[in-house]
Amino acid sequence: MKTEIIHDMRTAGKGSSAAHPDAADRLMFWCPACEAIHVVTITGKDPWQWNGDREVPTITPSVRTFSGAMEAGRRASCHLQLTDGKLSYYTDSYKMAGQTVDLPHLPPGLVSR
Ligand SMILES: [Zn+2]
Repeated sequence: MKTEIIHDMRTAGKGSSAAHPDAADRLMFWCPACEAIHVVTITGKDPWQWNGDREVPTITPSVRTFSGAMEAGRRASCHLQLTDGKLSYYTDSYKMAGQTVDLPHLPPGLVSR
């Protein structure tokens, strides 16, 4: 299992986290709504499609995850689309609904390997 970090800080200078995209089977990115990492698979059964761009990534289809938070008696869901390096949150998302923001860098402490 290799994970490609998309839109990482790229300042470590070691390149150790720069798995070759063709070899990666998962993508990792920072979600500012959840303040957590989301991971999607890009190989195997029903993979997401990725444009192969680490800096201006597009993945399809949308990503929907369920947080631990509760909302109206149900687990709140984070529902977003990542297109051209921008995160767009659907209106059914529990936070940042309807907002579009630039995909943030991963927090520095999470980039090191
Ligand atoms: Zn999220």
